[in-house]
Amino acid sequence: MSTEADVNDTVLLTLDSEACIGVGQCELLEPTVFRLDDDENISVFVGERDLLRPRAEIVVDKCPSGAIQIAEKT
Ligand code: SF4
Repeated sequence: MSTEADVNDTVLLTLDSEACIGVGQCELLEPTVFRLDDDENISVFVGERDLLRPRAEIVVDKCPSGAIQIAEKT
């Protein structure tokens, strides 16, 4: 269960381009963070890699290949 602190917590995302299978769920969910590269058919970052934790957890959960992960900030 998320605490209030978790909800307002910003986390850093990582993207494994080798694992990406180009489904595009990430771009649909977070178009300011991810874009599906038309030539390579893999997702790339387009801006900041930070997201609020609840949104980050959703995009991680919806990625079918496990290419997106949360890198905890230190
Ligand atoms: S949701 Fe995952 S597999 Fe689909 S394009 Fe994004 S990173 Fe790639």
